[in-house]
Amino acid sequence: MIYADYNATAPLRPEARDAMLEALEIGANPSSVHGPGRAARKVLETARAQVARAISAIPQDIIFTSGGTEAAALAIHGAVRKLDGTCTLIVSAIEHEAVVKNAGYADVPVETVYVTESGQIDLDALRQRLEKWDTERSGTPILALMLANNETGVIQPVAEAAQLVHEYGGLVFCDGVQGLGKIPVNVSLLGADYLSLSAHKAGGPQGVGALWIRSGSPLMAVLMGGGQERSLRSGTENLSGTAGFGAAAEAAVADLGKLKQLEAWRDAMEERLISASGVTVFGRSAPRLPNTSNFALEGFRAETQVMAMDLAGVAVSSGAACSSGKVKRSVVLAAMGASDELAECAIRTSYGWRSTQQDFEQTADVWLEAAKRRAVKETT
Ligand code: PLP
Repeated sequence: MIYADYNATAPLRPEARDAMLEALEIGANPSSVHGPGRAARKVLETARAQVARAISAIPQDIIFTSGGTEAAALAIHGAVRKLDGTCTLIVSAIEHEAVVKNAGYADVPVETVYVTESGQIDLDALRQRLEKWDTERSGTPILALMLANNETGVIQPVAEAAQLVHEYGGLVFCDGVQGLGKIPVNVSLLGADYLSLSAHKAGGPQGVGALWIRSGSPLMAVLMGGGQERSLRSGTENLSGTAGFGAAAEAAVADLGKLKQLEAWRDAMEERLISASGVTVFGRSAPRLPNTSNFALEGFRAETQVMAMDLAGVAVSSGAACSSGKVKRSVVLAAMGASDELAECAIRTSYGWRSTQQDFEQTADVWLEAAKRRAVKETT
């Protein structure tokens, strides 16, 4: 099986697996003061330091959560609560549902900032909106802008947007889930005030993530209880999960050099698909994650492609697979101006630490074969 769905979940890295198994053997609570508890605490703090190092942050600013979704929820609801609701959320049109839906439930006004055809946020539109900002009426602007899009891989100009928003006294939450381990992430350069991360996109386990918060940024807990994670996220920490996360983050960052190679293989695959059958590759004109390729051929429906490729041993997802596995209209591709007819035919391929050149070549072989069979069927 060729696995080309790393943006959904990357296979567990061996370093993460080893760290998890070791942590599972401890069997103690990191908040306990006895020896085993202290051993658990050591594992937890080592993981925190590893995750912090992966984004050039300090460990004290990392709050472990149950994943990227919870980290987004904490950032959004935690900031809104701390500001007593005197704020307006400005959400980019291509955010993941974890951000869009939490923003929708935050009980404050939500505005959308659109993207250009390239898939990047329209910074001019953002500037124009901020120039007219009425703080009295709208409170603090909080921009939610992801680091890289999960469907297209398009990397967002977070630093520029953050500079702009800060000029107007606002805050920036960046969903960094798809960036970690795929591009260098340095919180000082990024300029955001909150950054969410998820272990399973970087070769760690599912169900664990983190929120990095710039020291001093407004944040209030949304989950109450025993006061773990500096009282910002109560609940006994997922010890083996965080151990796996730390090890995966460290290994993924050490492996970043390999991504140049992935990018070259990805580009070669796209060239082949474009020249052989004229596919449209989304986000090609913008800076993109080196591992992602989202493409469509009008008339060749995504479900058909995903099934044909699965049968031929290549695991990909449709451009906009939702959690139930069903295909639904891609908000991201629509925001980039793609027609419904084309967007319905988009599939996403994404690769990572275990991918080989052959994986890319075989993806193209299998896809071209499926496209050929479909063309024959249509003409007979
Ligand atoms: N944000 C982005 C961009 C994602 O791709 C995902 C996962 O698909 C999430 C957030 C949610 O992360 P998690 O699955 O860890 O809750």
